[in-house]
Amino acid sequence: VFVSVAVPVPQLDLLTYAVPEGVRPPAIGARVVVPLGTRAVTGIVVDSRETAGPDVSPDLIKPLKQILDDRPFVPSDVVELAQWTAEYYGAGAGATIVAVLPPKTRGNRADAHKTERVVTATPAGLASLASAAAPGAERKRGSTANVALQLLSRAPDGLRAADLKSHGVSAGVVARLSKLGYVSIARARVERDPFAGSAATLRTSPDLKAGPTYREVVGRRLTEEQTCALSRLRELARSGRFHVAVLHGVTGSGKTEVYVRLAADVRQSGRQVLMLVPEIALTPAVATIFREAFGDRVAIQHSGLSDGERHDQWQRIRNGDVDLVIGTRSAVFAPCERVGLIVVDEEHDASYKQEETPRYHARDVAIVRGQKAGALVVLGSATPALESYANALSGKYDRVTMMRRILDRPLPAVTVVDMRGEFAAEGPDVILSRRLREALELRIERREQAIVLLNRRGFATAVFCRQCAGTLDCPNCSVSLVVHGQEASRRARCHYCNFSMRIPAACPTCAGPYLEQTGYGTQRVEDEVRRLLPAARVARLDRDAVRRKGSLSSLLTRFRDGEIDVLVGTQMMAKGHDFPRVTLVGVISADVGLGMADFRASERTFQLLTQVAGRAGRGDEPGEAVIQTLYPEHYSIQLACRQDYPAFYHRELTFRRAMRYPPFVSLVNITVRAKTMSAALRDAEAIADRLRAADESQDSYRVLGPAPAALARLRGEYRSQILVKATKSARRMACAQVVETVSALPGVARRTTVDVDPLSVL
Ligand code: ADP
Ligand code: ZN
Repeated sequence: VFVSVAVPVPQLDLLTYAVPEGVRPPAIGARVVVPLGTRAVTGIVVDSRETAGPDVSPDLIKPLKQILDDRPFVPSDVVELAQWTAEYYGAGAGATIVAVLPPKTRGNRADAHKTERVVTATPAGLASLASAAAPGAERKRGSTANVALQLLSRAPDGLRAADLKSHGVSAGVVARLSKLGYVSIARARVERDPFAGSAATLRTSPDLKAGPTYREVVGRRLTEEQTCALSRLRELARSGRFHVAVLHGVTGSGKTEVYVRLAADVRQSGRQVLMLVPEIALTPAVATIFREAFGDRVAIQHSGLSDGERHDQWQRIRNGDVDLVIGTRSAVFAPCERVGLIVVDEEHDASYKQEETPRYHARDVAIVRGQKAGALVVLGSATPALESYANALSGKYDRVTMMRRILDRPLPAVTVVDMRGEFAAEGPDVILSRRLREALELRIERREQAIVLLNRRGFATAVFCRQCAGTLDCPNCSVSLVVHGQEASRRARCHYCNFSMRIPAACPTCAGPYLEQTGYGTQRVEDEVRRLLPAARVARLDRDAVRRKGSLSSLLTRFRDGEIDVLVGTQMMAKGHDFPRVTLVGVISADVGLGMADFRASERTFQLLTQVAGRAGRGDEPGEAVIQTLYPEHYSIQLACRQDYPAFYHRELTFRRAMRYPPFVSLVNITVRAKTMSAALRDAEAIADRLRAADESQDSYRVLGPAPAALARLRGEYRSQILVKATKSARRMACAQVVETVSALPGVARRTTVDVDPLSVL
């Protein structure tokens, strides 16, 4: 018997090994140790069969060294899902299998569990505590040793040495008590609880106002729309067959409540739930509600956890101790065996696409997983991806809509400010329009909160020379540097490769002394809001502000608790939050994304504006949005202001049809990197030629390019690009052709990235 094994080595595809005579073949999903060159590595069995395959001589196949599991370590359907992902996205099996393994079992270290010292009081220790409390023992009572014994007397299962330490009891004191026979020390396996620790908003302590509790939620009466949506989804889930439903619900229509009840229903039927969210820290209310609803039987999987925490969570899921997994995109590979429901919340969100190999889209993998498991997949959004909505209209997916906000709260009233007029009246440097300034002042007066969005980080977006018109550019990338930091320590930094430099006094090109900082980002807006509203408490939320672990959730908690009046930030703020006291959303430069030469630019802008406007007026007071733009007549902006998704959908679809873009065709984006642009173009030409020659009929796909990529230079390398547009029916064939063609040019393949269904073609 021969087995195909995926080893967690990125460049490697499936490897074939022989099962030694007389050994029972391993199960699909079991771990095996295999020889690889001079090394021995652990891999996962993906497939087993009687023959070695046509192109391999059985004599050259090495035997397995060891079989580590007699039952699958990774459930076999998850192995199958990983294999589908590897094939569909043209990624190696080696790169993909990593996605389904728990951290730290990569390589040979199979089991890494955290153990900790746990201290327990002995009867002798408790007795000494009692005598210390007796009259005349005054002096002993306040001692550290006594504090330790007191703490331990209230903890029959003992306390971790680390917990004692946080009460000032050092390891030395514990050792002394142990010598006296007052305490015993044992090593115990401890599961790290990701809900504890720094992610403050994930805690469920009652003093944290992270939104309604589960009990409050289930105690509520659903609105008529929620009831209808729930009963339809319930019906689909109970059928036990594969379905996809798009839950199109406007912002504030109460989708979370529907998910929770649906999940509870699925759990009752003995099946598990996968709940995917764009980012855990950005949806604390969702995490909290599910945590309360499912108690211990929830596992959480996201990139903010340490490897150890992820490992423990993975094991709990694998052991079947969990009914619901809530996590970011990688949770779609969670090792569950009885999945009955997969919810993809905010399914349009770009963070579901992994921008490194394997370049999978978690929503699309979720649909494949649902299909294999006979599960219901719910795609929830106020602004569904065009692809999803097209499938819903064509009847391929179910469509469930909730068009009204809870308690019939109105959607925010939107005002568009034409910045051309504003510049004419107020001068070219104005950042906050008069309309927005007044609206902000009103919020401070009324003690309500506001959000100000600018989807661009930094202080100034370029350093410009007035003498030679040059800009300060990154030496490694074809972009200009962005100015960051406080006045005294301001530096120019590259957003792609992180190169940074002090801002020179003179232009490096012409030595002219007239360097000017132009354009502005969130830091500048933050300063401006502080200057205009000295009484307001202002904070900023963007990737620079939340680099430290835990700082994002603490910022959000402070905002929710009313310790911040105005939050300035990037699109991070637009995602799924529910801040009932926000009554104003201001958008600075709504057209930031429209200038990009990307076919999704309009869709992204529409989604962002609709989502961020949707943060206003979710409580008792109605909301308002002020949108500043240079292109007030652009349809993405117009229709986002009216929050008219169907109109946007039809308008955008016309453009996509005319230009042959998704959802009408499938795209594969091929990027080739090289030391010079001519080499990058030449290598790409070789790929393009072969692709064109392979498509004899000339009608299943079209090859565009090669051309220099929009970002022509990145991290010191030049980039060229080929775009393959395939008809729906030819998509698999085209992808396979691309993968085959690229791998036939091994020298080029190492410098080539294949992106199937790219979100962006920049
Ligand atoms: P969405 O995700 O659709 O934007 P949410 O699920 O965040 O909306 O719900 C919006 C707000 O309405 C939340 O504060 C939520 O607690 C509240 N809510 C949801 N359903 C109900 C209901 N049936 N009755 C009262 N309040 C509700
Ligand atoms: Zn750079």
